[in-house]
Amino acid sequence: MFATLSDRLADTFKNLRGKGRLSEADIDATAREIRIALLEADVALPVVKEFVGAVKDRARGEEVSGALNPAQQIIKIVNEELVTILGGETRRLRYAKSGPTVIMLAGLQGAGKTTLAAKLALWLKDQGKSPVLVACDLQRPNAVKQLQVNGERVGVPVFAPEAGNGVGDPVSVARASIEEAGRKLYDVVIVDTAGRLGVDAELMQQASDIRDAVNPDEVLFVVDAMIGQDAVVTARAFLDGVGYDGVVLTKLDGDARGGAALSIASLTGRPVMFASNGEKLTDFDLFHPDRMASRILD
Ligand code: GDP
Repeated sequence: MFATLSDRLADTFKNLRGKGRLSEADIDATAREIRIALLEADVALPVVKEFVGAVKDRARGEEVSGALNPAQQIIKIVNEELVTILGGETRRLRYAKSGPTVIMLAGLQGAGKTTLAAKLALWLKDQGKSPVLVACDLQRPNAVKQLQVNGERVGVPVFAPEAGNGVGDPVSVARASIEEAGRKLYDVVIVDTAGRLGVDAELMQQASDIRDAVNPDEVLFVVDAMIGQDAVVTARAFLDGVGYDGVVLTKLDGDARGGAALSIASLTGRPVMFASNGEKLTDFDLFHPDRMASRILD
């Protein structure tokens, strides 16, 4: 039993190393191992099939170059295909040309959205931006408070309805906050929206209403990398229900498999932009497809 994709592939490639040529049988055996490894890592079946097919085609089609032995060559192919599926280059945030940049966060409850909002705010501050957080999760008891506490920890103001938790209309809160941010010359507004335990129509409607009201420059879908195949179902539901420009994977510090990243990027065509990898507010960075590919392989 191999726990992770990287273990599995590492073992496969160990068997390949030292071989002089890569025969059709070698390619098939490698493809089989990659397939099993990806399935074990919870990569969605259509993605696995496409990936393995692409690797096999390239492995057959390429001349064995002088510099690499066949095993190294197939590792290189797997690496390149992983990077391609994961989005190629790191996709950077798009900032508004004038007025504050609006970033809206969407995702299920427990995905790590509220934590992420504060992490992103801190990261933006470190980039020289002047961000503000907006609490539009008025559903979950304590969500506003939690955002306020985190905002305080990172030294970023939090706009929230004055009456406190569980009251107010998130769409009006969002709209008023963008205006206030503009007046007070904050340059990035991060809007935290309500999550539910499961995907539901009301959640989608509320998120799309907020989106329509604030016209975000970026909608980011926040998803827990640990939830395996469910991540794909959720990612699709949010793509249809709200739409988003990029993905943030959280809890990559856990049993950090490449599965969710690969499946979501491939099936939604949206790049993973940020990675959240711990409970500390500094555990956050841009998502680097090449690093994730190496992590999967090494
Ligand atoms: P929300 O319901 O989506 O707003 O989720 P929260 O931000 O409240 O996070 C849910 C739980 O996940 C909290 O206990 C967080 O401390 C934890 N959490 C969030 N991000 C990460 C992460 O990257 N790694 C780990 N290990 N835990 C995280």
